[in-house]
Amino acid sequence: MSSCVVAVDGPAGTGKSSVSRGLARALGAHYLDTGAMYRLVTLAILRAHIDLTDADAIAAASDVALSVGSDPDVDRAYLGVEDVSAEIRGDEVTRAVSAVSAVPEVRTRMVALQRELAAEADSVVVEGRDIGTVVLPDADVKIFLTASAETRARRRNDQNVATGLPDDYETVLADVIRRDHLDSTRAVSPLRPAEDAIIVDTSDMTQDQVVASLLDLVEKRSGAMR
Ligand code: C5P
Repeated sequence: MSSCVVAVDGPAGTGKSSVSRGLARALGAHYLDTGAMYRLVTLAILRAHIDLTDADAIAAASDVALSVGSDPDVDRAYLGVEDVSAEIRGDEVTRAVSAVSAVPEVRTRMVALQRELAAEADSVVVEGRDIGTVVLPDADVKIFLTASAETRARRRNDQNVATGLPDDYETVLADVIRRDHLDSTRAVSPLRPAEDAIIVDTSDMTQDQVVASLLDLVEKRSGAMR
């Protein structure tokens, strides 16, 4: 296939990461996890003991050396040379990331870096919240994944249990709803589908079914582009 830029947006728990990786693999494309980038900045802010309600202090401390991999099969994230891949997925970072990602200076910095990284790749699947609306408004294909809050919480809770964390559906559901609210009501780049995004509800689909349907959409679109 000729080069293709695919934006995949949507809230937490829609299977976005696994599906975006699967799509990148199937297309032989690079993969960019922009959520990991916000998580890296958040970890740096937490380590610097910055007050999460102090947007100016967050902005001032957000210029950190971060890097993420572009191979869909290798989930690695670094602060400087330190591999913090596991730490950025921990509870502490997950709880703090919405506050950090709502700070305009943080977003400006991340968006610039994301555009640079996407431009380095020939074909790329970029996953996040504002890729189709803000980061890459000219993406060839824009996909917005949705699923009910209950489905998303159940998936996340199952993942937690599989990795040895406690089974706590109610807390996970409350966290999903809280993050949705914060992400969709923030002043800068709120979570919403781009006008030309294709909305895919994954509630009743397996991961393989979602990847197959996205691949189909990308192939149709890029056929139409040729
Ligand atoms: O995708 P993931 O759950 O790892 O994203 C973590 C957080 O990073 C989101 O809840 C959101 O606050 C923020 N984020 C964002 N814009 C993106 C990607 C993630 O604000 N493009």
